Amino acid sequence: MVQSPSHNNPADHLPEHLQMIDDPASGALGVIALHSTALGPAAGGCRFWHYASDQDALNDAIRLARGMSYKNALAGLPFGGGKAVLQRPAGAFDRKALFTAFAEAVEALGGQYVTAEDVGTSVEDMEVVASHTRHVAGLTRRAGRAGGDPSPWTALGIFKSMQAAASHALGRDLDQLTVAVQGTGNVGAHLCSLLHEAGARLIVADIDPARARAVAEAHGAQVVSVDEIVSVGADVFSPCALGAGLNAQTIPLLKAALVCGGANNQLATPEDGDALFQRGIAYAPDYVVNAGGIINVSAEYLGETVEQVQARIDTIPARVEQILQQAARDKRPSHAIADSMAREVIAAAQQRVPA
Ligand code: NAD
Repeated sequence: MVQSPSHNNPADHLPEHLQMIDDPASGALGVIALHSTALGPAAGGCRFWHYASDQDALNDAIRLARGMSYKNALAGLPFGGGKAVLQRPAGAFDRKALFTAFAEAVEALGGQYVTAEDVGTSVEDMEVVASHTRHVAGLTRRAGRAGGDPSPWTALGIFKSMQAAASHALGRDLDQLTVAVQGTGNVGAHLCSLLHEAGARLIVADIDPARARAVAEAHGAQVVSVDEIVSVGADVFSPCALGAGLNAQTIPLLKAALVCGGANNQLATPEDGDALFQRGIAYAPDYVVNAGGIINVSAEYLGETVEQVQARIDTIPARVEQILQQAARDKRPSHAIADSMAREVIAAAQQRVPA
């Protein structure tokens, strides 16, 4: 289940614009939420999912769009935050017709929204979208240009963040640490490869035993069950599975002194960020750490090079360190510091926009 990212300001929920999509001929039904365009076009993927109600879909789009605003702002990208949510039809449907109707809604926004893949959508869907609008990324990679699978870039940003956070919070390098990685999918497996190369000891778990085994064989990791991974004796816990893994049940079990991983929306509620802080566990905020993927997607849209992607990812660890330093200095949880910083970046851009 998708959870809300942490926030303190209810007014901050409100998107700038909601574009409703309702095309009975194709079955396309949903919404594009533009949370903020202060920094640039609202960028964020298209989720294709079954929701219990239209209201649930709308709420999810609004929450996810705000999350993208924060992520893009702190990644230093020239993009605001948006998200599209489409209801997956219950019966048979024509996928091409549905994504054509979605593409027309994206095109109608005239470049205010840039879409890409998210849960439930694929490169093929985005190729359909691309035949009707140019405001789309996540397409088949072209030679010499950024693009393609974002997971290795996401993993690289997490790896660099973990190096910086471990040095700040634990005073140690990765070759002196044990890292527990929850989820060895696209991001988790790439991360394990980088950690292994850096000399870290690895403990891994995945609900798909074959995936965990593959990482164990490639990188000498110890495999534990999905129930054990949270409480194993590790210095760092790295959530790389689904959201809301840090909650009232799991936080008391953690033995790690640092949490740094790629999953989106790791905190089930903002109070869970407070609980980590009270336990003295350093938390590298998820959307700061995992921005490598959107950095790669944005570079594709902007026609940038791989070197430009690399350069932006290189700025992530300093930001993580700054957030952890400020959290320690102000005695405030790091998730709240990150949210405040993101809001400041967006507010400053809003002030620069002529009325
Ligand atoms: P993925 O589906 O390839 O990998 C997720 C893995 O987690 C799978 O192997 C799955 O079996 C495993 N898993 C699910 N529930 C689990 C559990 N309870 N315990 C242990 N393992 C479990 O997805 P991914 O692309 O690697 O993304 C991982 C996370 O990172 C997601 O939360 C995603 O939203 C986030 N993220 C991904 C990217 C990216 O570039 N792919 C970018 C930013 C954020």
